[in-house]
Amino acid sequence: MLDDKDREQMTRVEGKAPPVDIPAEECLTVGPLDPCTIVIFGASGDLTARKLVPALYNLYLNDGLPKPFVIVGASRTSMSHEEFRERLKASYAATEKADLARWEEFAANLYYQSVVYDSLDSYVELAGYLRKLDEKYHTRGNRVFDLAVPPSLYPVIAEMLGKAGFAQEGENGTGWSRIVVEKPFGRDLQSAMELDQTLHRSFQEHQIFRIDHYLAKETVQNILMFRFANAIFEPIWNRSYIAYVGIIASEKLGVENRAGYYEQAGVIRDMFQNHMMQVLSLTAMEPPSLFEADRVREEKAKVFRSLKPLKGDKQEDNLILGQYGPGIINGSEVAGYREEPGVSSSSLIPTFAMMRVFIDNWRWRGVPFYLVSGKRLARKSTRIVVQFKRVPHSMFRNVFGDEILANRLILAIYPEERITLTFQTKYPGARNCLRPVTLDFSYDQNYSGPSLEAYEKVLLDCIQGDQMLFWSNNGVKLSWSFLTPILQDCETCGDRGARLQPYDSGSWGPEAAQKWMKLLIDEEQ
Ligand code: NDP
Repeated sequence: MLDDKDREQMTRVEGKAPPVDIPAEECLTVGPLDPCTIVIFGASGDLTARKLVPALYNLYLNDGLPKPFVIVGASRTSMSHEEFRERLKASYAATEKADLARWEEFAANLYYQSVVYDSLDSYVELAGYLRKLDEKYHTRGNRVFDLAVPPSLYPVIAEMLGKAGFAQEGENGTGWSRIVVEKPFGRDLQSAMELDQTLHRSFQEHQIFRIDHYLAKETVQNILMFRFANAIFEPIWNRSYIAYVGIIASEKLGVENRAGYYEQAGVIRDMFQNHMMQVLSLTAMEPPSLFEADRVREEKAKVFRSLKPLKGDKQEDNLILGQYGPGIINGSEVAGYREEPGVSSSSLIPTFAMMRVFIDNWRWRGVPFYLVSGKRLARKSTRIVVQFKRVPHSMFRNVFGDEILANRLILAIYPEERITLTFQTKYPGARNCLRPVTLDFSYDQNYSGPSLEAYEKVLLDCIQGDQMLFWSNNGVKLSWSFLTPILQDCETCGDRGARLQPYDSGSWGPEAAQKWMKLLIDEEQ
């Protein structure tokens, strides 16, 4: 907090008083929210039990849910309200930080309705049930429909919701209506566009929320604050000062129990067509004139539009695909991808990809962006590495030679949440020696209060109708337009098996990627 003296001092310099700091606890939640009903399709499933309901409960604990609110689970499984509540409670109670103190009062607002996803009658019945709950709780007909179901069901549920009148807003006693779809949004450009058309047959763009929960991580949201709320970084955030940028999302885990999904997806669909592309756009976008959803999403889309197509003769130079073999993780032997349960023994699905992409615009022309993601790598880490250029002329060359290390900025997103900046200083002593030192900011520095998990933020934003952290239809289209030719090339060309390079579990990926990985991985940081 600034004290009065600081403020007075700043008033003199700036000519006006700075805003008083907002106390941390007030940053956690937003103002009053419209009462509403949250309808979760696929409520008998994993996402509902592991992420959605715990997130809603945590919001409740922090006074972050609307008053009143109702949550209705809907799926085919036959269950009573009580069975639904007990199931969710058991799942939540098994989590590390479970706090059941107010579970019962929260759970009193949880209901369950069995539905048949492709039966209009079922939706008409659901509509009647929701109206009754509206009357009981005064939720005013405001509804969020969260599709926590396999993507193959998105079209039919969206269509049925439309036919049953759920997409209407402000008519016949309805309030607002929003639909939330989880990733993946399509398998390629065509399927994403088809899904979009289906959604748009019933819902308008402002009603559609395409989730990428990665975007709601505090450290990802912080990228824009870091870049645009400080005057000192933006002037050097360009091709004149930056040599290259790395965006890394590495995992130690293998495919675990998700082989069925992963065998259809692979690393490009799983990680690039969502998290990697979003982080790229936040790192590279131009400042919008206002921090407002449409303008921010427009600037992000411009980054995708400026990406130089990554295909043709030069593809090998710019794309490395790999698949993990056996190796050592945390001192224990682990199986290779093809030996994992549920994976084909001749699978050609990539578990590692490195792309070197270029953004063809004034700011970034010629600056390589290395995007790397993979499973069973040496370390779990999500980070952005901004490597600055060396000094243009070294007056110290007679002392240190030409090899003065250039500055490096790291925005670490997960599991560490920190920002580090490395620069050169002099070693104490009579002789002239240089040493690199690091300014190190940890995201929770000076903050010990509660924070919002990504799913909490995402659900809160849906309830508020704020689309800032969600994919726009244009963004989805442009991002798939860039990635689909790469996928087609990889999936149709005869030498695909040869292109897919093996790597040991616990390493930093295939041999061919090492020359680039060396630029990005800094073992000490
Ligand atoms: P589940 O596989 O657990 O499916 C959710 C529910 O959908 C099931 O309980 C089942 O309910 C119904 N369902 C499943 N398969 C079918 C089918 N073939 N036909 C009809 N109904 C079916 O999915 P998740 O909960 O894991 O994920 C939901 C969505 O969220 C998916 O799109 C997934 O990609 C996405 N997602 C999931 C994450 C996670 O951590 N789980 C993370 C990020 C995204 P019932 O039989 O009762 O109708």
